[in-house]
Amino acid sequence: MSLLLIKNCLLVDPLSGESRGDILLADGLIARAGPRLPLPPGCSVFDAAGLWVFPGFIDAHVHAREPGAERAETLETAALAAAAGGITSILLMPNTSPPMAKPALLRNYAARAKKLPVNVYFSAAATAGRAGKGPSDLAALKRAGARAFTDDGSCLPSGALAELIKKAAALGLPLLDHPEDFSLTGAGVASPAAARRLGLPGIPPEAEAFAVLRDILAAAANGPVHLQHLSLAASAGALRQAKKLGWPVTGETCPHYFELSERDIKINDANFKMKPPLRPEADRRAVLRAIADGTIDVIASDHAPHERRLKAKGFAGAPFGITGLETLAPLCVARLVLTGKISRLRLAQLLSANPAKLLGLKNKGSLRPGCDADLTIIDPLSLKRVPAKFVSRSSNSPFVGLPLRGWPAATVVGGKIVWRAIC
Ligand SMILES: [Zn+2]
Repeated sequence: MSLLLIKNCLLVDPLSGESRGDILLADGLIARAGPRLPLPPGCSVFDAAGLWVFPGFIDAHVHAREPGAERAETLETAALAAAAGGITSILLMPNTSPPMAKPALLRNYAARAKKLPVNVYFSAAATAGRAGKGPSDLAALKRAGARAFTDDGSCLPSGALAELIKKAAALGLPLLDHPEDFSLTGAGVASPAAARRLGLPGIPPEAEAFAVLRDILAAAANGPVHLQHLSLAASAGALRQAKKLGWPVTGETCPHYFELSERDIKINDANFKMKPPLRPEADRRAVLRAIADGTIDVIASDHAPHERRLKAKGFAGAPFGITGLETLAPLCVARLVLTGKISRLRLAQLLSANPAKLLGLKNKGSLRPGCDADLTIIDPLSLKRVPAKFVSRSSNSPFVGLPLRGWPAATVVGGKIVWRAIC
């Protein structure tokens, strides 16, 4: 029997609240939590005095670049980066090359992912070949291991949206959409004001807002839809209203949309180029409000690693996207919790309980006995700068050099410490 007792910590459980004490992990599950638990024979001990213990953080939006762009990231390096970032489970996006659109391909990668230090789940292409026309064979992809369906990187096609929603709902898996009207995006590279500074075409906010409104109406008529990487006040307002009406829609944002605005963009640095783009300050504030008031359900990294030589092409030529697995937790702790904008329990909902619910991970997202022993242990006092070199194979982050407080101290998956900060 493998036993681990984590002692003297602050336990943050979205179901039962906060308490000080110990937590005992036995054979991959949470056995008990409470004040001063006795030490069973043969049990390892982790003294977590001063540390916060959360149910393992789940990042529901990760690009691991396999197959097709292994020089930017692999399953292995993504999993190691996740562990180093305090993330215990990741959901991979299917916009690989070839796309994760065939059951045999998915089965192959899902088998490899079982050996990795964190839980790696796969989403599969919602449309056949991720070509944006008719639906994939969603049932076959589910049998091959898919946990969700999305065409992330592309927007779900209007012509197949109702059918996709109904089919995903019938299979009991979430349908995720990258809400973007590409006919409005055109060749845009940044928000209109930032693009003017760059002398390049802009991406109008309507590109996101129209797609969000379309998805919300489709959800009201047909069933659940999860909106990925929301970045606008208009999106947050629409989602808030939809929830008031009881419509089955959930929403996600990413740390860059509450931490950065278009004003922060360094015009020579394509590490500020992502989709959706950084927005005006009023949108950043609206995203923060939507995180605090419960409108936003999930914070995910949208970890999008790219080789340095590609990001060196500048705003006009570089691909969209930034890395995020190793900065998700400290940005959320430093900027949301330690500033008093949200409580630790709300953070546990955003990073643990809600993504677990979205992905149907019934045994995750809580510290209750019987749940999987996946834990994220945070040191609220640790202060360091975001490093220039990440565990991830890529380091295309706009946050390099930023001092943050509240880094992960250890990551526990299935009752085992898979990563620990060097003190
Ligand atoms: Zn996307």
